[in-house]
Amino acid sequence: MSGLNELYQQVIIDHGRRPRNFAASPQANAVLEGYNPLCGDRLTVYLTEKNGVVEDVTFHGNGCAISMASASLMTEAVKGKTLVEVAALFQGFQQLVTQGGQGVEHLGKLCVFAGVSEYPARVKCATLGWHALLGAIRHEQNPVTSDESDPNN
Ligand code: ZN
Repeated sequence: MSGLNELYQQVIIDHGRRPRNFAASPQANAVLEGYNPLCGDRLTVYLTEKNGVVEDVTFHGNGCAISMASASLMTEAVKGKTLVEVAALFQGFQQLVTQGGQGVEHLGKLCVFAGVSEYPARVKCATLGWHALLGAIRHEQNPVTSDESDPNN
């Protein structure tokens, strides 16, 4: 099990250092900034959506390794998914990072964040990109925070 945790950590470090799909996207039809005041993470998500399907997601900004790695893996996980599937994926991901990795095998690579459940302060880092993406899907204009006490979330 510790070997698995080590592998998970390596994936997070790799994506934190070399985030995938890390660019502003001029063709995006929804753009939203996410801000996590507790850590200072600030990411902007660029969504290109067509007929209810995610064609592309990119992101840009600055944040800690967890927020960057999570947004990076998110961009890979949601590409080609329907908006309904994205919402379901986020539900599973939120369960993973708050309750740990039980029955979440369907999340695939996102399972590397199971350890975040042991660090409640990091949950907001891990979900920041997701909150921004879901806000972009709802075509919100104002920056979202990953603070769960915010009624807008
Ligand atoms: Zn953070």
